[in-house]
Amino acid sequence: MLPEAGSLWLLKLLRDIQLAQFYWPILEELNVTRPEHFDFVKPEDLDGIGMGRPAQRRLSEALKRLRSGPKSKNWVYKILGGFAPEHKEPTLPSDSPRHLPEPEGGLKCLIPEGAVCRGELLGSGCFGVVHRGLWTLPSGKSVPVAVKSLRVGPEGPMGTELGDFLREVSVMMNLEHPHVLRLHGLVLGQPLQMVMELAPLGSLHARLTAPAPTPPLLVALLCLFLRQLAGAMAYLGARGLVHRDLATRNLLLASPRTIKVADFGLVRPLGGARGRYVMGGPRPIPYAWCAPESLRHGAFSSASDVWMFGVTLWEMFSGGEEPWAGVPPYLILQRLEDRARLPRPPLCSRALYSLALRCWAPHPADRPSFSHLEGLLQEAWPSEGCCVKDVTEPGALRMETGDAITVIEGSPDSTIWKGQNGRTFKVGSFPASAVTLADAGGLPATRPVHRGTPTWGDQHPGGVDGDRKKANLWDAPPARGQRRNVPLERMKGGAECAWRHPPGVPDSTRSHWGRCGFCHPEPQGRPALPPE
Ligand code: AMP
Repeated sequence: MLPEAGSLWLLKLLRDIQLAQFYWPILEELNVTRPEHFDFVKPEDLDGIGMGRPAQRRLSEALKRLRSGPKSKNWVYKILGGFAPEHKEPTLPSDSPRHLPEPEGGLKCLIPEGAVCRGELLGSGCFGVVHRGLWTLPSGKSVPVAVKSLRVGPEGPMGTELGDFLREVSVMMNLEHPHVLRLHGLVLGQPLQMVMELAPLGSLHARLTAPAPTPPLLVALLCLFLRQLAGAMAYLGARGLVHRDLATRNLLLASPRTIKVADFGLVRPLGGARGRYVMGGPRPIPYAWCAPESLRHGAFSSASDVWMFGVTLWEMFSGGEEPWAGVPPYLILQRLEDRARLPRPPLCSRALYSLALRCWAPHPADRPSFSHLEGLLQEAWPSEGCCVKDVTEPGALRMETGDAITVIEGSPDSTIWKGQNGRTFKVGSFPASAVTLADAGGLPATRPVHRGTPTWGDQHPGGVDGDRKKANLWDAPPARGQRRNVPLERMKGGAECAWRHPPGVPDSTRSHWGRCGFCHPEPQGRPALPPE
């Protein structure tokens, strides 16, 4: 086979550095046809075609020389180049596995248009729609994927949406963590498409709010998700990134027991000595999830992500309830500054709730870091036990011998504990003597030491029948349903909500961003945001 005319530059470049034997693998396996495509090739990809590290260094030098010549005019590379961090070896934290399973052939950031076919619609986000898809690798093997396509207006992609889309690509390109959604590659077609790992079970929020007969999620599983989330967030923080949109809607279920952090459209690098990102001008942010400093000054940091972690914990244990439901967005900041906090959901132990309260410390410096949170979660971990005698007393949590019981509340000196029956999903109080404690697999031995003595009346259906008790806010806002009647908040200057509500997308298919209650309003008397 003769080299193609369009890729003779590659052959020449490789010949100059005595690496011509890699011409076909680079062209065909890594899909590199232009010098800019090397921006998306990782050292692991070159390892995958058998190129040793010294040869990779030679190639890198040759590319630098090539680039000092005329610059590419391609707008995609210009924009991505502007966002993409310097290529460097990923520095994984010590707790991250070094060898992650990869689809055959490793990461190939540029995927030919014909290699991906789209199927059913999975959801709609702020700058595109997400479809289930099938990616055919050069070997012929097919990998199920999710394909996010950039929404294109009548006059082509809209500036901010294109920028956010490419920013998401450039951030995800460099992330490798078992609980961070993986980007497989980018299709430079019309429309631009991100090819991502498929999370077949959808968003955690959808799972939390799924109606009967879908059973609720067990408390022990929610704790596992929190630990996975804290690990993923510690990883992002260690890479100098702030997510800014942490919520159950952005946690995807890759399997029944695995969540992945997704939606990196709002991710920003943390800059300056203070490790903050300050947004300029009013842009939409998820108001009810935000820390006070984000609402007042547009300031985001790992500590504001920790605040959002606390709200996400609250969502998980509230069955996907909307935080601050019924409170107009501009009042949320006032409530927070008056020290009001979301109330403890019935399923949440006191120990976990006090962890959430630490995440909601008014001063960012007083909040725990994500790596500290991983340890705190371990301390607040509910004990697992096994029922050793049937409980049938009226008002008590019913259980049969052999039932697995998660102890939510209980102390060694109390005779009544509160827990969840793993078989029935019900939550309630029971005699401590009915359960023997076992150590949860992989976790240190824990004993219920949480204070407080539940009473027989302290029983919650746990959602099997969908009859979850509604939490009361300390400073009771209007009921949840009333929120829908709250007039749309207006941005400063009287403009409509500035969020890019996609034209032609019905409300029901819009993501959370389509709801104006999440927008970043400029209520009267609020200081203007500092410039970016
Ligand atoms: P996003 O634009 O990232 O907010 O995604 C919009 C919706 O598409 C999400 O709420 C999910 O329901 C769905 N979705 C996004 N990415 C994936 C994925 N990788 N796997 C499965 N569903 C996804």
